[in-house]
Amino acid sequence: MADEDPRRRIPRTDSLLNLPALQGQAAGLSHRTVAGIVHGVQERARRGELSPDDVEPAVIAAVASHRPSSLRRVVNATGIAVHTNLGRAPLSDAAARAVVEASGYTNVEFDLATGARSGRGAGARAAALAACPGAEDVLVVNNGAGALVVATTGVAAGAEVVISRGEMVEIGAGFRLAELIESTGAVLREVGATNRTHPDDYRSAIGPATGCVVKAHASNFRISGFTASASIAELTPLCRRHGVPLIADLGSGLLTPDPVLPDEPDVAGSLADGADLVIVSGDKLMGGPQAGLIFGRADLIGRLARHPLARAVRADKMALAALEATLTGSTPPVTAAIHADPAALQSRTERLAREVGGDVVRHEGHVGGGGAPGVALPGWAVRLPEATAGRLRAGRPPVVPRVHDGACLLDLRCVPEADDETVLDAVRKALEEP
Ligand SMILES: *Cc1c(COP(=O)(O)O)cnc(C)c1O
Repeated sequence: MADEDPRRRIPRTDSLLNLPALQGQAAGLSHRTVAGIVHGVQERARRGELSPDDVEPAVIAAVASHRPSSLRRVVNATGIAVHTNLGRAPLSDAAARAVVEASGYTNVEFDLATGARSGRGAGARAAALAACPGAEDVLVVNNGAGALVVATTGVAAGAEVVISRGEMVEIGAGFRLAELIESTGAVLREVGATNRTHPDDYRSAIGPATGCVVKAHASNFRISGFTASASIAELTPLCRRHGVPLIADLGSGLLTPDPVLPDEPDVAGSLADGADLVIVSGDKLMGGPQAGLIFGRADLIGRLARHPLARAVRADKMALAALEATLTGSTPPVTAAIHADPAALQSRTERLAREVGGDVVRHEGHVGGGGAPGVALPGWAVRLPEATAGRLRAGRPPVVPRVHDGACLLDLRCVPEADDETVLDAVRKALEEP
């Protein structure tokens, strides 16, 4: 008789699932996930990629290295503080703890004193208002895009939304503000030219058909040269005369001015200039969780809060917890990165270079994520051979450098100082690899 087909020696599913080594390690993984891993390994053995004798150890190793979530902590060594591909703003310690606390049953809509139902996210709302004096009220929703749709739909309700052609931003991944606004039936009324829009352009467009005027921050690009735009202060009297709400979408948006980003508009200033509603994202310069905040007139906010769309884009309990803690707790990492002390940054960079044998070069960090386009945050980086980048990304934890001009650049601006040793170890390992 010919040799027995080796595939017959592949361990059976039951015996693999019952491996004692799997019981402890597999705690944390669902039965379905473990079974999927087992089947995957058996399949490789059937295709002859693995000897039947190696199936057991391969299953044990695969289960041991599998995590319930594929999202891992990564070290951001790009110098870009709000990096969309890396999850935008990292939470402050206070916010991260708040998320864990709120992840179970929590009093998000419950008054512990009376046992009655309470307003959802009252704490986050109060913290946002305390951080932004001048706002009568605030509505927190799922993200900035949702906030814009709720605000324009709730206020304009089928009427025209006036917006400058210079502000028809694409915010990323093919999504455009104008299309977002139109998606719920509003009619766009574009005014001005790409490079220049004047108060008169708005004047001739605003009329009985106007539902609102939107002033959107050109958050991720800059038009230079022969340009003009109408400011909130210029548009306010015009809007008031016609009784038309003025909505400012700041995108990244600071709550109050920051000397490091002198050209970045802020919520308090926009309200003071006369905007009726001001929209910002929670996870850009604010440094918190994904959220959209609409600040402004109490009557309008009340109307938006009652609109069905507000329910469709409601903020989740963990985001509400994180937002409140971002505003009341320790300094958010985005704020720390943008305000990093240059001398400290330089000495940390020099130490890393000394330890691993790289060059220190000047390197500009950025706010990123659609904030302060064109604003450079001067700093330093350690320059290493380009091939180091892939090895660093493959490490545990992955370290993500900037790859530019044939080099791997490590910028420590967005690396908490406590992670310097982690980066050092990662670079040593990456450089040791043959
Ligand atoms: C980022 C941005 C948005 C979208 O906010 P998300 O929180 O990402 O949904 C809207 N408008 C502007 C101007 C932006 O920069």
